[in-house]
Amino acid sequence: MGGTARHDRGLAGDVAATPDGKDLDHCIQCGMCTATCPVAEAVPGFSPRQIVARTILDLADELLASDEIWYCARCQQCVASCRKNIRPADIITAIRTEALRRGNRDTAGARHTMAFLSDLGGKGKLNEALLTFRTLRWSTFKMIPYAMRMLARGKIPPPIVKEIEGMDEVQALIEEFRK
Ligand code: SF4
Ligand code: SF4
Repeated sequence: MGGTARHDRGLAGDVAATPDGKDLDHCIQCGMCTATCPVAEAVPGFSPRQIVARTILDLADELLASDEIWYCARCQQCVASCRKNIRPADIITAIRTEALRRGNRDTAGARHTMAFLSDLGGKGKLNEALLTFRTLRWSTFKMIPYAMRMLARGKIPPPIVKEIEGMDEVQALIEEFRK
């Protein structure tokens, strides 16, 4: 196969090689994406502008292992506000994909994503009762008061999930995704 191999060209090259990352270098760091991002307003330090800048600078190790790439809610507000067609939301998605591909799976966001994939491939639907623990691990215990309120209102989902019909089709889709 011709061209530069993945990893040899760095994170910036990998993201720029995706359809949504082709205009990455056009970013003028105006900050409109961060100014309109609802997550940036709620989570101190989260900034799509900075994520784009760090991608261009190829600070891959720092970005791929960070939790912040998983905070994005994919609302697309940054895409609508960017005058340079950078699509920060899709760049963040491309970085998430690279994080998983390169084995950076020990963040809450990566664990959450892998738990989704594992549940869908196993029974065809989520085991919501265990999802929080698989995502947050021991930090889940900080949520016990909240869980007790859910329990009192009958909102805790069952821990055993029944397999859906048509699992072979779901697994075929997942196999296609893994290629
Ligand atoms: S991604 Fe777009 S909106 Fe955000 S800083 Fe760069 S040019 Fe501005
Ligand atoms: S898509 Fe993500 S980064 Fe963009 S505005 Fe929404 S939450 Fe912020």
